[in-house]
Amino acid sequence: MDYSQTIAHIHQQLLLEKNHGQVAGYIPELATVDSEKFGVCLINTDNVCFWAGDWQEQFSIQSIIKVVTLSLAYQKLDAQLWQRVGVEPSGTPFNNLSRLEHDYGIPRNPFSNAGAIVVCDVLMELFSDPREVVITMLRTLASDEAIHFSQAIAASEKSEGYRNMALAYFMKSMGNIMHDVEDVLDLYFDVCSIAVNCEQLARIFIYLAKHGRSADDRHSYLSRAQAKRINAIMLTCGFYDEAGDFAFRVGLPGKSGVGGGIVAVMPGEFSLAVWSPRLNEKGNSYRGLRFLEQFTSMTEKTIF
Ligand code: GLU
Repeated sequence: MDYSQTIAHIHQQLLLEKNHGQVAGYIPELATVDSEKFGVCLINTDNVCFWAGDWQEQFSIQSIIKVVTLSLAYQKLDAQLWQRVGVEPSGTPFNNLSRLEHDYGIPRNPFSNAGAIVVCDVLMELFSDPREVVITMLRTLASDEAIHFSQAIAASEKSEGYRNMALAYFMKSMGNIMHDVEDVLDLYFDVCSIAVNCEQLARIFIYLAKHGRSADDRHSYLSRAQAKRINAIMLTCGFYDEAGDFAFRVGLPGKSGVGGGIVAVMPGEFSLAVWSPRLNEKGNSYRGLRFLEQFTSMTEKTIF
């Protein structure tokens, strides 16, 4: 299927519409990004690529990395992982504190900040150099060595990361963080800081469109059953407290980040990355969501 015209058409239409929302300001470095950037890239399982706009410009991956870190932990621990983090949508914002106390320090799901911090703690147990493991997985999947950590973004987030510190210290007090809290948070801030463009992101996520296998079929990152479950968690928990609305409007598993990126997966067919930095009040890219809603409506490519 040739998606070039559909992608170009929706991209152009949205550029004519008024853009809404705000660039994430709570991480000072993210607030410096040009709010009108807008890129799209779709890669299908035959490795054919369709794109529009600022698809080759790098941005901060932020929460989208939580899918990759989760995959690495899940690949090694399988069901044992769910003793440390749940798989239920939380219905609360990504950095919510009160729910965690109610749940005795076991985060509702791996895509909340608390859940992703626990996953970082798990990666420190599993790998002697987890940063290297994460970046190597991204570079291998994207066949691109240009993917890198951004020290400026990581330092910027760390300088104001009081809520994440509160979450991590609370979980430490409840026995759900094994390592030094500062070290776990450093890893978390570093992996969130990684710079990618839409093409790299779409290439990375093809393993979830291919039931756990790499684009060239040579690597297996997850079993088929595991890939199904990660896609299910993306569908139910991938968009903060807007996951239901995203499923309702778009109908694909996906994950957003406060850098303005969204990646969505159509299992068996494609992975699709969109970037537009202005976020709606729930923290999801305003234009990214509009794009995906129109794309799945026009192409009827949804899992439902
Ligand atoms: N690094 C960000 C934070 O912890 C990630 C948030 C996001 O993209 O949802 O606040």
